[in-house]
Amino acid sequence: MPSSNDVPVEPTATAYKSAYALSLFLGSVSDLQTLLPMIPTSVRDVLGCEQVMLLLPDEGRATFRIASTASADVVRHFDDQVVRLDALPDLPPFDAWRQRRPAIIDPSLRPPGDDGERSLHATVFRILPAKPTFSAPVSANGRLYGVLLAQDAEDPISAERSEFLLLTAHVVGVALANAARYQHAEEERRRRAEEMRMMAQVDRELSDSIQLDDVFAITLDWAMRYTLAHGAYLSLFDETSGMLRPVASLGYKTPPETVTDLFESGGIPQRVALTNRAEIVPQVSLDSAYLPVTIAMNSHLSVPVTREDRVVAVISLESKQVNAFTESHLEFIHALSTRAGIAIDNARLYANEVREREKTTSILREIADVVMVVGSDERIILINDSGISALRLYPDQQYVGRRFDEVFDGQPLLTVFRRAVAGGRVHNDTLMLPGDRTYATSFARNPKVGWIITMRDLTELRHADQLKHDFMSVLSHDLKQPVSVLSGYVELLEMRNPALDERSRYYTAMIYQSLTNMRKLIDDLLDLARLDTGVELIRAPVAVDHLMFAVRDWIRPSVEAKSMTLHIPTGANLPPLRGDQNRLTQIFVNLVHNAVKYTPPGGEIHIEIESSGEEALTIAIRDNGMGISPDDQKAIFERFYRVRRPETENIEGSGLGLTLVKRLVDLHNGQIGLESRLGEGTTFFVTLPVWKN
Ligand code: ADP
Repeated sequence: MPSSNDVPVEPTATAYKSAYALSLFLGSVSDLQTLLPMIPTSVRDVLGCEQVMLLLPDEGRATFRIASTASADVVRHFDDQVVRLDALPDLPPFDAWRQRRPAIIDPSLRPPGDDGERSLHATVFRILPAKPTFSAPVSANGRLYGVLLAQDAEDPISAERSEFLLLTAHVVGVALANAARYQHAEEERRRRAEEMRMMAQVDRELSDSIQLDDVFAITLDWAMRYTLAHGAYLSLFDETSGMLRPVASLGYKTPPETVTDLFESGGIPQRVALTNRAEIVPQVSLDSAYLPVTIAMNSHLSVPVTREDRVVAVISLESKQVNAFTESHLEFIHALSTRAGIAIDNARLYANEVREREKTTSILREIADVVMVVGSDERIILINDSGISALRLYPDQQYVGRRFDEVFDGQPLLTVFRRAVAGGRVHNDTLMLPGDRTYATSFARNPKVGWIITMRDLTELRHADQLKHDFMSVLSHDLKQPVSVLSGYVELLEMRNPALDERSRYYTAMIYQSLTNMRKLIDDLLDLARLDTGVELIRAPVAVDHLMFAVRDWIRPSVEAKSMTLHIPTGANLPPLRGDQNRLTQIFVNLVHNAVKYTPPGGEIHIEIESSGEEALTIAIRDNGMGISPDDQKAIFERFYRVRRPETENIEGSGLGLTLVKRLVDLHNGQIGLESRLGEGTTFFVTLPVWKN
């Protein structure tokens, strides 16, 4: 270790060597706090002087603090409260240090003005012995990092030693600069890690919240926490009107969302929304667009929230301090706004979903029909209130998720459900439920869901139908009876008066005819009413031959009365029809009767029968009568429809015959159609299923 007494012959070379060793030693320590106390000790050891002290300038303030000292036996690391000293820029040695020059501090020469409690002399010589002290600025890259003070036994310090101290001061400067850079990088890393930790927490909180208000509150809370802003608000942006509307805020006495038309005349957030560019405004008083929520704020930061390149909202932060927001704040709020955008979207989707579901639920609840959805696994997915009451379930029990066959065990609904499952895509049935109620039940298979079951209460309709039927029976009975009585009296009148003159005979014939028509009308009405309430057909094999003979026997008198010919083929080798003998006869008697009625005397009627595939026969009734116009063809099966033409004027009828025929054909699962040309004739086709063993 060199000392003041044995200054080497070539001090510079040795000094360089030592300085090199020192730089290796100090360069191995990157942590500033570890490095600071090591500096005076190692410098003292290298220089071999008695006392070494390290001063550090305080950033941004005109003060220094004593970082550490090393004397022969003590090493001290100082608490900066005790050892802060004021730097007076114009006084030596401060002016020398600033110019990167060394200076000697002589305790006996205290410069005027440097005489306070925290003056250089007062502070330094409280710790170091009061003797001339050499000082060398510690700098690197043109920046002052500190000052080294050294005292030697040799008094004052020699020129070589001063040079050597300057060299070590340079080495220390590089070491301090590296450590400061390292510390800065470390702080940045820590800041990033903290930011990431916060973002992870933001992510967790946002992904947990599906309420829009919660998303707003979480976003603003994190924005304030990170930037230490005094106020924050979030405004939604309407792209079409270009208007912003504050919807949530934190930190304001008068919340911006309660200030109506806040952004009507622009404002920084609106500018940010329109340009889709974040802005830091260091001093709001210098920005003419600024609209204050409260006068207390001095700086402002606004960041757009975008979804698929479209601005949906703006996050705004305000601080009472001027220039409170930094680039790293901006970066954090950007990251936050990306997350908020997604969360706002999700919350909106969820809110829509909830609204839709509530709508559907309330519709389902309010409709009178039973609606039930059963999954492919045969578990109940949905049952509405009407279902619960119609099916006599307990309103306070949970049925969703339970097995259909367990809930409806032993009930007719289960039997019908099984039938539906075994059948096709749609199944319709009529179901009697407790309380003597009748339901039209429909099962529709939905590949995505399972089964959608709807049930409509037909009980009232049935009652109404029954009432109609009862009314018709009473009415027809009350009508039929006097009609029969009248017919009897007309016959008696003729019998008792064989000498009636021709005119009187004509009158009685007219009365008789009208009564017959009336009876036919009543019969048809009654029959239709009966068919409407659902008669059961007696289905059996019906031989076509027999059917045709029966028809011919019924119709013969009217055919002969009009000198017409009726051609009926033999139905040999044809399979029997499947149906109700009487009702089938009724169908064909009606059709042939019409053919007779609407064909002039002498006309011809042909009946033709042929197979229609293996399953059915088609029977055609062809006449060469007056025919039916295309317009009338569309309506003739309607109740009470009659063709109004000069040639039909004198033909009696009710317009019910073909309605009855159509109903009967339908009941037999058959089909009816016609071809006709006015003035040429008409053919009715009836296709009916054949009997299969
Ligand atoms: P109506 O009691 O009037 O005969 P229908 O229901 O049997 O009632 O027939 C409806 C209308 O269809 C008749 O009014 C008639 O004009 C027309 N019509 C039915 N059959 C024939 C036919 N074979 N030729 C011409 N017109 C017919």
